[in-house]
Amino acid sequence: MENCLFCKIVEGKIPSTKVYEDEHVYAFKDIHAQAKIHYLFVHKRHSHDVMDLMQEKSQLIDIFSGIGQLVQKENLHQSGFRLVNNCGALAGQTVFHTHFHLLSGEELGAFGARR
Ligand code: 5GP
Ligand code: ZN
Repeated sequence: MENCLFCKIVEGKIPSTKVYEDEHVYAFKDIHAQAKIHYLFVHKRHSHDVMDLMQEKSQLIDIFSGIGQLVQKENLHQSGFRLVNNCGALAGQTVFHTHFHLLSGEELGAFGARR
């Protein structure tokens, strides 16, 4: 997808700090980390938001398989982690290439709706 930030990151046209990659999935450190560990998981195939993946459920499985691999590798299950997906601008989505945030590495604040 032209002019998509995360497609460019997947293609290596914009640098990122890779934490995981397989045939379908790419994961990298969030540039504005909200926790000690803050990774973004994307499918290599572009989609706009998570509702697109309701038609492409295999992509959801790919992404969650990647998350599972990394959680095991970094032993995050023990300390706990949070997965977040923002769908739509009102929910805080700013990059319209579907992605899941993985937050971990410290005690996370309460998860609330209002600022
Ligand atoms: P959203 O707000 O769409 O759920 O999440 C987008 C995330 O992408 C934000 O947490 C933001 O910090 C991150 N981000 C935006 N631009 C870049 C970038 O160029 N590189 C990296 N690594 N992360 C980015
Ligand atoms: Zn994209």
